[in-house]
Amino acid sequence: MNSQLRQLPQVDTLLHSPAIAKVIDACSRQEVIDALRDLLSRLRVDILAGHAAELPDFAGDRFAQGLHAQILKARAPNLRAVVNATGIIIHTNLGRARLAPEALAAMQDVGAQASNLELNLTTGKRGSRYDHAEALICELTGADAALIVNNCAAAVVLGLMGTAMGRKVIASRGELIEIGGSFRLPDVIAQSGAVLKEVGATNKTRIGDYADAIEDDVAVLLKSHTSNFRIVGFTASPAREDLAKLAKDRDLILIEDLGSGVLIDLSPFGLADEPVVADILKAGVDLVMFSGDKLLGGPQAGIIAGRADIIAQLRAHPLLRALRIDKLSLAALEATLRLYRAPNDPLTRIPVLRMLSEPLPTVQARADLLAGMLHDQGGCEVSVAPSAAYVGGGAMPQQDLASFAVSVSVPDLPADDLAKALRHAHPPVIGRIHQGRMLLDMRTVTDDDLPRIAAAFNAVTAP
Ligand SMILES: *Cc1c(COP(=O)(O)O)cnc(C)c1O
Repeated sequence: MNSQLRQLPQVDTLLHSPAIAKVIDACSRQEVIDALRDLLSRLRVDILAGHAAELPDFAGDRFAQGLHAQILKARAPNLRAVVNATGIIIHTNLGRARLAPEALAAMQDVGAQASNLELNLTTGKRGSRYDHAEALICELTGADAALIVNNCAAAVVLGLMGTAMGRKVIASRGELIEIGGSFRLPDVIAQSGAVLKEVGATNKTRIGDYADAIEDDVAVLLKSHTSNFRIVGFTASPAREDLAKLAKDRDLILIEDLGSGVLIDLSPFGLADEPVVADILKAGVDLVMFSGDKLLGGPQAGIIAGRADIIAQLRAHPLLRALRIDKLSLAALEATLRLYRAPNDPLTRIPVLRMLSEPLPTVQARADLLAGMLHDQGGCEVSVAPSAAYVGGGAMPQQDLASFAVSVSVPDLPADDLAKALRHAHPPVIGRIHQGRMLLDMRTVTDDDLPRIAAAFNAVTAP
């Protein structure tokens, strides 16, 4: 063992070998040093553990080629595409909504070339980035005006800063949510410079609770979507219409943080609980905020829609600049919104909506197809089983969608190890583990993903 340890060369010595000098020419010196250190330390661990095979010929071409290959592999981007086989359509850890080809094309266009981002082509004068998609949002939601910012969290912060700074915001105790990444509504209200006034109880808040809490320094009634949880049983909350009437009578602003805004009725797919933005505005809500990359199916963005006078105030806010949307997201958002217009059918054109509305037999057929591919390839045990998929992204946390999964196991490989190996495939495949088997849900993958999944299994099971 010690003699093998002594045979390990110094990194400095290796850098002078002619074969390795060639690798330095092809990459960078630092990359070669890092790769050599990594390799030598792994060999040292193997030797100490007593299972090192023969040492390589460190001066040889083969060693240098292996080193080069390792460096190229380490150069793969950190942020890259994966296959989402989790069954969670809007998965925040996996990048949320997949974009439609039209949205990608718009990003390509506006990214590769100069654009009229802030140029009014009619007047030749300075224009506003906020104008490009505003009319489209108004058309699709019935709003009088709209403003787009970086994400829904930014929309909520801006909305509160612009309407309630230094004044009070009334919110129900049952709606003071925390969503992922420690966005806590009470803290956000405080950071916006407003003062939270909680009303009601966790499970029940009545219109009278809001009315009783109104004093001189109240500016806003805030309603929020309880995205990732449900209170069930003995519950009550006032109708939007009643809140709207109260706000109007007392000259307050009614704001709703909707999170995952939907633009079309999704009740035919068993998703009746998700309110449509247009209906919320019709009920009298003054401002509604929602995400671009949840059920809308577009890029990361936060949309504020509602009363023109308040939106004008927010547009003039000095911190708007810090929250603004970038041109690529804006291009993708505008293109996605256009897919909601007739004669387009958003249910087939927008990936998120296509996944959640796909008929079950189509999902099952995809499962059968993948199972056949994996079976033919060999090396694993495959079956097709009914499964439950979820919308994710804070919408409809209890509501599952009927789905089918391919259930796979590899002999002598525990499910955790299989999951790990699949995460290291190119591209990585992310599924879920259930009762010791790997489940690949077919509602969140496309037909294009199937060969990628098959290739990942091939890399894992190939002898
Ligand atoms: C998701 C969500 C947000 C935050 O949206 P982002 O676009 O991720 O910033 C805010 N409020 C609610 C109710 C949400 O569900």
